[in-house]
Amino acid sequence: MATYRAPLRDIQFLLNNVFNVEQLFAGMPDTAEVTEDLITAIVEEAGKIAEGLLSPINQSGDAEACQFEKGEVTTPKGFKEAYKAFAEGGWSSLTGDVNYGGQGMPKMLSAVIEEMSFAANSSFALYTILNTGATLTLSQHGSDELKQRYLPQMYSGNWSGTMCLTESHAGTDLGMIKTKAEPQSDGSYLLSGTKIFITAGEHDLTENIIHLVLAKLPDAPAGPRGISLFLVPKFLVDESGALTGERNTVACGSIEHKMGIKASATCVMNFDSAVGYLVGEENQGLSHMFTMMNYERLSMGLQGNGLADASYQIASEYAKDRIQGRAAAGALQPEQNADPIIVHPDVRRMLLTMRANVLAGRALSLYAASQLDISRFHSDDAARKKAGQLVALLIPVQKAYCTDRGFEACVLGQQVLGGHGYVAEWGLEQNVRDARIAQIYEGANGVQALDLMGRKTVRSNGELLEVLSREMDEFVASQKDVVAMQPYLLAFQKCRSCLQEATSSVLARSGDDPNIVGAASYSYMELMGLVLYCYMWQRILAAALVDQGSESADAQYTDSLVKTGQFFMQRLLPRTESLLVEITSGAESLMAMSAEQF
Ligand SMILES: Cc1cc2nc3c(=O)[nH]c(=O)nc-3n(C[C@H](O)[C@H](O)[C@H](O)COP(=O)(O)OP(=O)(O)OC[C@H]3O[C@@H](n4cnc5c(N)ncnc54)[C@H](O)[C@@H]3O)c2cc1C
Repeated sequence: MATYRAPLRDIQFLLNNVFNVEQLFAGMPDTAEVTEDLITAIVEEAGKIAEGLLSPINQSGDAEACQFEKGEVTTPKGFKEAYKAFAEGGWSSLTGDVNYGGQGMPKMLSAVIEEMSFAANSSFALYTILNTGATLTLSQHGSDELKQRYLPQMYSGNWSGTMCLTESHAGTDLGMIKTKAEPQSDGSYLLSGTKIFITAGEHDLTENIIHLVLAKLPDAPAGPRGISLFLVPKFLVDESGALTGERNTVACGSIEHKMGIKASATCVMNFDSAVGYLVGEENQGLSHMFTMMNYERLSMGLQGNGLADASYQIASEYAKDRIQGRAAAGALQPEQNADPIIVHPDVRRMLLTMRANVLAGRALSLYAASQLDISRFHSDDAARKKAGQLVALLIPVQKAYCTDRGFEACVLGQQVLGGHGYVAEWGLEQNVRDARIAQIYEGANGVQALDLMGRKTVRSNGELLEVLSREMDEFVASQKDVVAMQPYLLAFQKCRSCLQEATSSVLARSGDDPNIVGAASYSYMELMGLVLYCYMWQRILAAALVDQGSESADAQYTDSLVKTGQFFMQRLLPRTESLLVEITSGAESLMAMSAEQF
């Protein structure tokens, strides 16, 4: 069975050669000390954690799964020790607020660490990601008192965080939630209601669990504008931040039995007049949660990409080893009964599709993370504003496109192994099961597509896309004299024209038919995903071509990048043209049948 290897070379190439992170970080006062040496040291150490601590308990965790008994959840063997070691290594506080025990590191850095954690052990990674998201929300919207009391323990890994949004009748449409919060004379609230599907709602990894809960105040307006955010601890905490020993009235009613991520506890949480504290302003809960959601959605894209990479690693090794059939051009290994399956064009199609999308997906994730960092750390208002606009546009695509391509890559990896991909031993079938959820949670991919098409494109009248287009123009201009880049730039120009035409068509027709936007949205997200992957490939190729000519070049490596990029342009990118046809075909064929005819 193949084991996970941290893709350090790919990561370093992207961070240093493509995105030039040292220069990026040097330009922002709060990240100026994050040098290339420091980044290399952190990424290498994180790679060791993924390979040596998380990967070894991945398959056993899946087989054992979380267990539920009398309100308590037990995580699989080894998880508790691994979580302790992870926290002691300082990984829970990496991006945290420096005023409360965090290390204030940029998201670009934690993004590569998250990808490796998801690749090595997605169930484990979820406990850490939820905690990071909860601490981020608290640090941005909580009062000083709440931050002082809770953040240091959450950063240290002694306590962990959750996000409690979903109810049985309210998933995508959170405006319908019923959980109530009654104000008390001492300024606290009593929360009552039931949340479902809560990741890490109950477990045995930490001594306390801090829930961030969406609920409604008694006089709240109806719908999404009437939702507030509350902090509800499992065990009550006194003013100094110490545990009082008293259990709050929030309890886990059961855990779900599910397709994958079996070592991640997915809980029904019952709040029975549980003591809670308002985070931020009344009725602003959803917008406060959105702070965290951009980060959480980025993480889901990283889950898809990480599992795709883990699958690629297994499949590419297997294809070099497994012998079946002969190469079409004549026996490659005549001394053997057959040649390795990597000689077959169709096997190469699968491997190259995986590799091309993993590299572009990682680059897109880092690019989106860089915009999150600029929007948070940059001292210039205009730079922060532009980055914020790019974040708004990029995140729904990164979430949906990377998770779709990630799942597809896991299935392709399974196919490369034939029957051995379907059985448990090689780990491919677990990757397929673990990757599937990333297309659903944190806003199902169809809803991400609608967000991109409706809010981010039609409602902004294409303004956000203009911001991205200007940046792409600048890149193209910077390459105009590089002869070797010209064929790639031509392909880029062609797919950008498709996107422009699709956008203009939807903008022009969105007022005519209320279903135009929804009918175009998924194909539009895929078209935007392909254009962004192409943009990432342009940047990878530009860096690879420079490196190829330099003395320090590792020719084999940069050559493999150029060849993978060429495959992307010739074999994957042309789909933009059929997507344009889909988008401009309108809504009629989708809406023609009555509900009864289905
Ligand atoms: C394993 C797991 C872990 C989870 N962890 C958490 C957690 O930690 N915290 C939490 O709060 N929630 C969590 N969730 C819930 C998750 O975020 C929701 O399941 C998800 O947002 C979708 O909501 P839903 O299941 O109610 O589906 P629905 O909202 O019923 O949607 C069903 C389908 O209809 C589509 N749809 C819905 N509305 C529209 C629309 N307006 N336009 C177009 N299409 C639409 C969706 O795309 C989807 O395909 C988790 C779920 C799972 C399974």
